[in-house]
Amino acid sequence: MFAHIPPYAGDPILSLNEDFQKDPRADKINLSIGIYFDDEGRIPVMAAVREAEQRVAQQTGPKPYLPMEGLAAFRTEVQKLLFGADHAALAEGRVATIQSVGSSGGLKVGADFIKQWFPDAAIWVSDPTWDNHKAVFEGAGLTVNTYPYYDAATGGLRFDAMLAALRELPARSVVLLHACCHNPTGVDLTPAQWEALIPVLRERELLAFLDLAYQGFGDGMDQDAFAVRALASAGLAFFVANSFSKSMSVYGERCGALSVVCPSKAEAALVLGQLKFTVRRNYSNPPMHGGQIVATLLGSPELRSAWALELDAMRERIQAMRKQLHAIVSAKVPGRDFGYFLTQRGMFSYTGLTPQQVDRLREEFGVYILRSGRMCVAGLNSHNVERTAQAMAAVLAD
Ligand code: PMP
Repeated sequence: MFAHIPPYAGDPILSLNEDFQKDPRADKINLSIGIYFDDEGRIPVMAAVREAEQRVAQQTGPKPYLPMEGLAAFRTEVQKLLFGADHAALAEGRVATIQSVGSSGGLKVGADFIKQWFPDAAIWVSDPTWDNHKAVFEGAGLTVNTYPYYDAATGGLRFDAMLAALRELPARSVVLLHACCHNPTGVDLTPAQWEALIPVLRERELLAFLDLAYQGFGDGMDQDAFAVRALASAGLAFFVANSFSKSMSVYGERCGALSVVCPSKAEAALVLGQLKFTVRRNYSNPPMHGGQIVATLLGSPELRSAWALELDAMRERIQAMRKQLHAIVSAKVPGRDFGYFLTQRGMFSYTGLTPQQVDRLREEFGVYILRSGRMCVAGLNSHNVERTAQAMAAVLAD
């Protein structure tokens, strides 16, 4: 019955993480998976999140289904977090938001929605992008193409080439954009580049799909929402999937959202209705617990500011690791510019290492990064940064 089914090759990132777990070396270093670890190498339990969870636990009661669109308080708080409480798009009722099963779930619901209501649209993603983008959108039946993005020569952005490519797209094409902390490269658009992109999106009638999985890890909570707010202020219609996995360190709660910014309140109501139907025929309604934690935290000014401080400290710790890595590798491998370690934002860096160098890093030094050269800088800490930098310098110097 099932013999015709091909074996699943496995997800490259999750498989590498499994290999790491099996590696018997005591001094192995895991910089492969996109998880924030603290200076002791642990996934943090943020104090504000723990407090919010305790408050949720005190309200023991029945556990009804949530509505298809999720918890109302969660959806309201997400909108304020993304757009800023006073944004005109919210006042005008132009934003349709649903709670989703992680932001992966938001991407998938958005992809299904696009396939149904824009059946001829293809999607363009950055070259490179998070592998699962391709899988999710192809899985929903969309054709996935790429636009130029990362510049291997400089470790920066090919912005002119990106704009030129987007100018050539057919109207109503979907363009997936990382709102901040690009995964896998760490290379982001500046605010000025976002401003320059907006007229192209408008003139070409492109439908942007923003992925905001790392809000707070780039430059700050509000700064990292720049793209969301700028596109909404420009009056564009677009999608944004956002995640709390990293920013609240609640990976397994599967808590995210999908928002669609619409031209009018009436269209937002139509979109919300069809998003609900998309959810209904996928998984019916989202889980409660994560949504309650997030809504409780964001709804309490005291917990919210405590959380913001904790997140600031996480971001600053990553930046300190970037500086240390940069200093050691630059000193050990003279004559090469490693400035990109400092300019790239968020949890990831494209190291510029070849797959062979990545293999040596793992085999000889027990340092795990992806074969694309992507390193999770958030896995560095004061105990392993020196060894990582020395190992990188060793494989780079040969
Ligand atoms: N988008 C990007 C760019 C990501 O890196 C990730 C997580 N690795 C996600 C979306 C999905 O995150 P989650 O489903 O946990 O919210």
